[in-house]
Formats: sequence, C-alpha cells, structure tokens
Amino acid sequence: MTQRTFSIIKPDAVRKGYTGAILAEIDKAGFKIVSLKKASISKPQAQGFYHVHSERPFFSDLCDFMSSGPLVLMVLEKENAIADLRKLMGATNPANAEEGTIRKKFAGSIQENAIHGSDAEDTAAFEIGYWFAGYELV
Ligand code: ATP
Ligand code: MG
Repeated sequence: MTQRTFSIIKPDAVRKGYTGAILAEIDKAGFKIVSLKKASISKPQAQGFYHVHSERPFFSDLCDFMSSGPLVLMVLEKENAIADLRKLMGATNPANAEEGTIRKKFAGSIQENAIHGSDAEDTAAFEIGYWFAGYELV
C-alpha cells in the first residue's frame, strides 16, 4: 500500500551542509518527494509540532534547537513509507544507530540527530497537516 510520511532535515544537518546528501539517501531508498520546503520556524511552532513530548525534560531544549536555524520539511511517499523511513533514519541516539543509516552517517548527538520521521499513520497525518496545505501536496 502506498503511504505518505512526514520528514524534517533538522537544523544541525542543514547547518553542516548535509541537505543534499540526505536527500540523495532518501531518493536512493525509493521515496517520491510529494512536497518539500526550506523554512525557519519559531519556538511556538516547534512546541506545537512536538506537543506529544511537552512533559519530557528535553522539550524546551528540543524546541530551541528546532527553531535555531533553517530546516527542510518534506512529505515523502512509497510503499510502507512510515516504517521504511524510520529504518533508514536509524535509532534516535546516533550512538545506537545501525551502520548505513542517516543518523549513523550525519547525526551528532541524541538531540541533534539530523532527521525526523513520523512514527505512525495518525502522527503522519497530523504532521503533514501541521506544515503543509493541501495545494502544496503534489
Ligand atoms: P523524531 O520524532 O524527531 O523522528 P524519534 O522518534 O527517533 O525522533 P522521539 O523520542 O520522538 O525520537 O524524540 C523526538 C526528538 O527529541 C528526538 O529526535 C531528539 O531530537 C529529541 N530527543 C529525544 N530524546 C532525547 C533526550 N534524551 N535528550 C535530548 N533530546 C532528545
Ligand atoms: Mg518521534
């Protein structure tokens, strides 16, 4: 079943010049780019996006980080897109990420971990709607 997921190239990776290399990994893995935009987001926008983590001790730092510089917002499509992107990303903490994953190659720390990917169908739907209007999904 063709499925859509939402992804972010996080500010650490954009800052380090890894945008093109990460897009190449996503392309090589067979994802179609449905929509893509580079943006700078505010801390409140980051807080809304990561609201499920609002009680976690790292929430404020995470939202400062996500609003610290430009990032790349994407909607991606393929068979089994949600699980396959999570596999391509690797573990949250790059120290635990498998060889060949995006986080293993490009992430610097558990917070500055290069890429986001939706973790389920309901969160993917929320996240796509949070950042993209229907007319942008082509
Ligand atoms: P994402 O949701 O960004 O795809 P994830 O699903 O692998 O990542 P989550 O548990 O949803 O991980 O955490 C969201 C983000 O919060 C992480 O990607 C990371 O940037 C940050 N984070 C998670 N755990 C920690 C931690 N212990 N310390 C600092 N930052 C953390
Ligand atoms: Mg997550």
